[in-house]
Amino acid sequence: MRLLVIGGSDAGIAAALRARELDPSVEAAVVVADAFPNFSICGLPYYLSGDVRDWRDLAHRTTGDLEAAGLELLLDHTAQAIDSTGKQVTVTSGHGERQLGYDRLVIGTGAVPVRPPIEGLDLPGVHVLHTMGDTFALHQALTARARSAVIVGGGYIGLEMAEAFCARGLEVTVVEQAPAVMPTVDVELGRLLGGELGRHDVAVVNDVTVKAIHHDAGGLTVAGDPDFTATADLVLVVVGVRPDIELAEAAGVQTGMRGAIRVDRRMRTNLPDVLAAGDCVETWHRLLENPAYLPLGTTAHKQGRIAGETAVGGDREFAGSLGTQVVKVFELAVARTGLRDPDARQAGFDPVTIGSVQFDHKAYYPGAHQLHLRLTGDRQTGLLLGAQLVGHQDAEVAKRIDIPAGALFHHMTVDALNDLDLSYTPPFGSPWDAVQLAAQDWIRQTQALSGPPAAL
Ligand SMILES: Cc1cc2nc3c(=O)[nH]c(=O)nc-3n(C[C@H](O)[C@H](O)[C@H](O)COP(=O)(O)OP(=O)(O)OC[C@H]3O[C@@H](n4cnc5c(N)ncnc54)[C@H](O)[C@@H]3O)c2cc1C
Repeated sequence: MRLLVIGGSDAGIAAALRARELDPSVEAAVVVADAFPNFSICGLPYYLSGDVRDWRDLAHRTTGDLEAAGLELLLDHTAQAIDSTGKQVTVTSGHGERQLGYDRLVIGTGAVPVRPPIEGLDLPGVHVLHTMGDTFALHQALTARARSAVIVGGGYIGLEMAEAFCARGLEVTVVEQAPAVMPTVDVELGRLLGGELGRHDVAVVNDVTVKAIHHDAGGLTVAGDPDFTATADLVLVVVGVRPDIELAEAAGVQTGMRGAIRVDRRMRTNLPDVLAAGDCVETWHRLLENPAYLPLGTTAHKQGRIAGETAVGGDREFAGSLGTQVVKVFELAVARTGLRDPDARQAGFDPVTIGSVQFDHKAYYPGAHQLHLRLTGDRQTGLLLGAQLVGHQDAEVAKRIDIPAGALFHHMTVDALNDLDLSYTPPFGSPWDAVQLAAQDWIRQTQALSGPPAAL
């Protein structure tokens, strides 16, 4: 069986490795547009900050590791067209064009940065961040002694890059069109992050939409509405990603949510023997039981693994994503999972979100930090719908969000969080974990508002 994979990042490599793991007789070839297969894009901000000294260390696995696992890597090869009837893919490289046959094909072309309608996006000094090529360009700008940066977009990549630029000694301005940074959490938590950025001398500008970038004597001038201008040596535009689907669409692959490739839960597209996974596809939402678009590395790895399994005749289904995510912002960490009020309401729930502030461990033991938690649950049934959390980077924010993430995965109620047998010792926690104390606050306050929820 010849398995051909287009795309050599999280999804594509996971698919090829899993197929070979299950069936070592599979011939697996991976077409990669650049020379950097299986690099951790998630680590790019930490190379640019200087925390990771050598870009080569960002490889999840080296080319040698991948080849030793039996993958044929076609680096610097670009897939140009898919012929699903003849089961062939046209690829081009420095050596010209050729056809590659397949029995099963996995499309893992990922995502590309959104290019918002801003005049001047193509000016020298204006950057995006998604590939190693983008990273080298930014690195060069930093080593050429850029002294200031404007970041357009206060989402997670914008915030990680604000910290990275500060570490490199730049003066940084973040411009975000929403009322607070990190618009994927509630504004109350976004403001805490804005405060943290401010404490590290990052200028945060909210409620401003960038319209144009001009080159002038002082550098690049960024203009926004209402009434905003700032001048810097470099501009980084990080306003989200969109699925890279042109190749698939031209071959007749159906698309859906946010233009992403429509797949079933075994990652099959509408075309026979053509699978797809990662940032280019729709993501099954575990709670909504509907397709969504949640481009994350964790999801791409899982979906790629399922695609590899399906390719060799397996029947495992993708269990679904909850959009669980954590981000470091200087000394703070912010995390979220599941639904927030507006998504939950739109899905037909009757959501209530209650904020709660708890210590991460017993306050008498040195080094206790406050955690700001927000739990969302359904008023009628008590079903847990989502959780958000901001706290000190030493307060186990990442692993704490995994408690509600696990509970959501198993469709638990807010109250049932209290039944979980969680670990405790004073330096690390409390007899009731902060998440459980937040659950108790949710129940108390929801009952005060509307009486006890009906049983599930
Ligand atoms: C700066 C940054 C930080 C991030 N941090 C996190 C994080 O902390 N946690 C998290 O969960 N997620 C994070 N993400 C998101 C995560 O990196 C992506 O969800 C993940 O990389 C998606 O993997 P993918 O394989 O679907 O696609 P991509 O990583 O987009 O890879 C697509 C691959 O396809 C190749 N390709 C595309 N078209 C062709 C073609 N025609 N021919 C040949 N090859 C082609 C590309 O070269 C590439 O190899 C981050 C992303 C960025 C940019």
